[in-house]
Amino acid sequence: MTLNKKVYLKAGKEESLLRFHPWVFSGAIARIEGEPEEGEVVDVYTSKNAFIARGHYQIGSITVRVLTFADEPIDYAYWVRRLEVAKDLRRSLHLIGHPQNNTYRLVHGEGDNLPGLIIDVYDHTAVMQAHSAGMHIYRKEIAEALKEVMGEVIQHIYYKSETTLPFKADLLERENGFLLGGSPENIALENGLKFHVDWLKGQKTGFFVDQRENRRLLEHYAAGRSVLNMFCYTGGFSFYALRGGAKLVHSVDSSAKAIDLTNENVALNFPGDERHQAFAEDAFKYLDRMGDQYDLIILDPPAFAKHRGALRNALRGYTKLNAKAFEKIRPGGILFTFSCSQVVNKENFRNAVFTAAAQSGRSVRILHQLTQPGDHPVNIYHPEGEYLKGLVLYVE
Ligand code: SAH
Repeated sequence: MTLNKKVYLKAGKEESLLRFHPWVFSGAIARIEGEPEEGEVVDVYTSKNAFIARGHYQIGSITVRVLTFADEPIDYAYWVRRLEVAKDLRRSLHLIGHPQNNTYRLVHGEGDNLPGLIIDVYDHTAVMQAHSAGMHIYRKEIAEALKEVMGEVIQHIYYKSETTLPFKADLLERENGFLLGGSPENIALENGLKFHVDWLKGQKTGFFVDQRENRRLLEHYAAGRSVLNMFCYTGGFSFYALRGGAKLVHSVDSSAKAIDLTNENVALNFPGDERHQAFAEDAFKYLDRMGDQYDLIILDPPAFAKHRGALRNALRGYTKLNAKAFEKIRPGGILFTFSCSQVVNKENFRNAVFTAAAQSGRSVRILHQLTQPGDHPVNIYHPEGEYLKGLVLYVE
């Protein structure tokens, strides 16, 4: 018997929960018993008064984020169990204790049945991000469970949720800060390459771990090519290109800070390598003036659409961006093009790129269709979790 407050669904609205979809939308709710606080654990009942799920309550269109479909308590042991499963999955992917790679995502929200929680690991530091009021409230218990599950691997836990928490919720202690340790050490290893990871100031959790496998694929195509890494951020794709034997590599980002990070990282791996240059410039301006010097181009822009309403404009943006690359890339060139907008699905994205290709009139073929790596798993009952889409194209 738990004493959780209860959320009752309208008749017929239990359908998606019976298929294990982890969200309860506000429109599906008939009534709420008691007045749950934001972030409180509530029980979800069908209109026929049957228990169906337990999760975090929050005011907004997603009212409950389901933590379990079983009648089990959400306590310290629950977090330990869930984190153990997440760790086992990463162990299966050979990501834990790997000598050449110590950066990976340990918890990917719904993909790990922990909606609202992201944990990235960089060597001995875990960066934890809450996207829901519930995960924020339980952050200390989660951090403790994380330490227990990961043991010696994790010495520091940095909590970084200032920009990801629902801004309207009335939550205390939202500030970023260490929940464990407090290391200034900031060099992590990805596939044998070194990265300065700036979890204090960097975007997201400090580094985009989701491109690890795609960067490796790029390395495979880089030999002898002139490479443009557009939207380079910390320069990830650039050092793989250098290691892969590129003739030259140009990294471009509109943020001067990103260009500094890229230069620092290049110096860390390939000190004094004159094949690399970085430019702080707007993508569209650069693409307009760059001429036809490149035969390998990477386009990995920020999410053009953050919500459904922005979809059409976003698709136009992808078409415009890719059209510029098709216009300029040398014959026999290879284009790595990505979208990380969650609301843009695979078909939408492919269509936007198709339109751009057609505008250029060039012969374009798909070599690879890319997505996020296994440490960013997609819960099959929550297809919305598939957010990263990429195409590798051969342009004649
Ligand atoms: N490819 C990177 C991640 C890119 S994140 C990686 O592998 O880690 C998106 C980047 O686009 C950010 O660094 C941001 O500063 C940059 N950006 C955003 N708008 C831009 C614009 N108009 N022109 C150039 N860069 C831009």
